[in-house]
Amino acid sequence: MGRFKFCPACGAAAPLVRETRRMKYRYKGETLAVRQPGDWCRACGEAVLNHADVQATEDKLNAWRQRINKEIAVMIKQVRKELGLTQEEMAEIVGGGKKAFAKYESGTVIPSEAMIRLIRLLGKRPELLMDLRSMKKAA
Ligand SMILES: [Zn+2]
Repeated sequence: MGRFKFCPACGAAAPLVRETRRMKYRYKGETLAVRQPGDWCRACGEAVLNHADVQATEDKLNAWRQRINKEIAVMIKQVRKELGLTQEEMAEIVGGGKKAFAKYESGTVIPSEAMIRLIRLLGKRPELLMDLRSMKKAA
């Protein structure tokens, strides 16, 4: 039996179960499955993680997030170059401050998932750039 008699997430009066489960983490549109130890609720499926539980997976999760962040930075620069735009022009068209793309491309700021999707879309369908430009003019 685990340490919890009630689930802190859903309030179910069933004791949480101490075990290791396959758990999916999501980050910037990607998913990673890890073997996550924790106290699990049979009612809602939530887990309570203690410090050791977090430590068991944090190195793997951090390395994974860093790899994704690097890939995003490289992708953004590549798409912008393919579109033949400066960082400032790119920010004017898709949104973001003057320095936004310098920060995205150096990896100091990771854009929102929505911004990442928009940039990926422009990479696949560069002709949409004209539509975005006209939206900017209309605004
Ligand atoms: Zn629960």
